[in-house]
Amino acid sequence: MNPMPGRPRGVIVLGAAPEALCAVRELAALGYAVAWLPLEEAQAPAALPPNVAIYPAAELVGLGGYAGAFCAQVRRGEAIECLPGAAVLIALGNARCYPQERYGLPLGPRVLTPPQARQRLKDRTLEALLSHRKAHFLVMLDWGGETSRETAVEALHTARALRQNHAEVTLFYRDLKVDSAPLERLTRRMREEGVVFCRYIEVEVRFEEGGVHIAAPDGLVRGDMLILPEAVQPHPATLPLAALLKLRVGKDGYFQEVNVRQVRPGLTNRKGIYVAGRCHMDADREAALEDVSHVVASLDAFLHSLDEPPSGPTAEVERDRCIRCLTCVRTCPHAAAEVVEREGITAAYVEKAACWGCGICAAHCPVQAIALKGQAVPSWLAPTAQGVSIR
Ligand code: SF4
Ligand code: SF4
Repeated sequence: MNPMPGRPRGVIVLGAAPEALCAVRELAALGYAVAWLPLEEAQAPAALPPNVAIYPAAELVGLGGYAGAFCAQVRRGEAIECLPGAAVLIALGNARCYPQERYGLPLGPRVLTPPQARQRLKDRTLEALLSHRKAHFLVMLDWGGETSRETAVEALHTARALRQNHAEVTLFYRDLKVDSAPLERLTRRMREEGVVFCRYIEVEVRFEEGGVHIAAPDGLVRGDMLILPEAVQPHPATLPLAALLKLRVGKDGYFQEVNVRQVRPGLTNRKGIYVAGRCHMDADREAALEDVSHVVASLDAFLHSLDEPPSGPTAEVERDRCIRCLTCVRTCPHAAAEVVEREGITAAYVEKAACWGCGICAAHCPVQAIALKGQAVPSWLAPTAQGVSIR
């Protein structure tokens, strides 16, 4: 599919996560000019398509405009400039931490996270343990609470890598969701290769005699090292960015997909602004990149739809009646209403391209200055100049 002729073809991508690079490449392949703001220090990829402009040191200070005609206000040095874009895609990713409070155990020589274990395999500092005798690694998921999908899958890969280095590996889990073909393939291979899976309800972990002891339902299991997955949390830029862009964040601190009437991937409460990957969902790498593809397709379809007349109802303000109480500005969940001066009148104004036609503003306006236009009228009502009447 190619970008539509005659419309702005820019898309602004925010974030430095792997999902952002994937989105940048997919959008560029569709022919969009991409302005990429990583918003944090990140290593720029070696080669980017010619229709991608990257602004590594730019700070986003505002977002003006509306769907189809956004303007990202960015500070570069002393200057503030406007980067135009018809849509915005956010791919911040998430952040990691070691949940010491949840586990009640500090990291140390016998307690590693999966990335630490992978690193030690890579730099061969586990060699002595692996070659001296049969080392036994105990990988523990869901301890003190459900492990996120992302770090659980990472722990599975680590368990497999240890097993392939001739270690004994026992993987304890309570609620492992094998709900995709790649995960099903991975766990089946792990079992075939000799990783032992052990489901538990309660376990007790003790450090004794130079080893780790886990009292599990099947008895006492002794190991040399305990591997505990990290936890994920929202990226620290999520809340400030949500406030700047007037986006909704869920109780869990991640961007929230909204508008239950709309089921397209990545939609936010603001038309033309999309979220993709781990900044709005718990996903392993493969699932996060798959989500990016779905969101890019959804964004592409939206930009094509801008060429067509609006298909649903939109709010319209009778500006002479408006008393500028700002109720509609405050209540609109989609940031589509504002009070502006136009043609000498300062009054509320609804940008059609940003309006979902939900009618909340019309219901709250104290002087009934807002009407929904383009609303389907049931057959038992007849449209009149004043509104509708029953036939
Ligand atoms: S709620 Fe009604 S009166 Fe108040 S600002 Fe909006 S349009 Fe004007
Ligand atoms: S109908 Fe009103 S409240 Fe709903 S999106 Fe449009 S302007 Fe906002």
